[in-house]
Amino acid sequence: MKILVISDVHGEYNENLYNYLDNNDIELLLITGDITNFGPLDFVGEFINKIFEYDCDVMAIPGNCDPEGICNAITESGAFCLHNEIVSYGDVVLFGYGGSNPTPFDTPGEIDDSKIRDDVFELISSYNAIHNEESPKIRILVTHAPPINTDADLTSGGDHVGSHGVSSAIQEFKPEINVCGHIHEAKSICQIGDTTKVANPGMLKDNGAILIDVIDNLNFDVSIISLDG
Ligand SMILES: [Zn+2]
Ligand SMILES: [Zn+2]
Repeated sequence: MKILVISDVHGEYNENLYNYLDNNDIELLLITGDITNFGPLDFVGEFINKIFEYDCDVMAIPGNCDPEGICNAITESGAFCLHNEIVSYGDVVLFGYGGSNPTPFDTPGEIDDSKIRDDVFELISSYNAIHNEESPKIRILVTHAPPINTDADLTSGGDHVGSHGVSSAIQEFKPEINVCGHIHEAKSICQIGDTTKVANPGMLKDNGAILIDVIDNLNFDVSIISLDG
């Protein structure tokens, strides 16, 4: 099963995405936030409906640059809004958390970093309480904000501006994968500890994407791809 992850669409279509979906068998497309550029919300349904033409499921979370009502707009499009939700999907389980820790720009989807921490802790621990150790799944934490002090949160000015809350949830629960976005110039894959691959696809308009190839419930591959490649 192949999962494609894109982020930071900011209201711009990229034809290369459709060519890629046409030529590759993608089961699930994940959008990790900033679908719009502070609106309009009409774009969300139009953008997601065009993806449905390629016969894949779509799940999305809000970014800090998406306005209020974004979760409704995602749901109304027919996609699943993964914000503060857990979904089991084949051999993976997805934990979603949108928005970002506060920025200097006073954007609409900012959340106090301690609240991000508390909410993500609650989300993952509620799964840990019910999961079956005999048939584990690959755990994917889907956030807009990258964890702090990684390759995924490094600005072009050299500052690490990611979320302490996302970082401490990763250190506590050690999900196999964290896909994020938010820092447009930080397209990267890196690792936290021995356990967690952290991947930021960068902006859709720059052809950035992450491909997760799920081989079975224990084995997977995460790679950066270029949609024009
Ligand atoms: Zn963005
Ligand atoms: Zn953002």
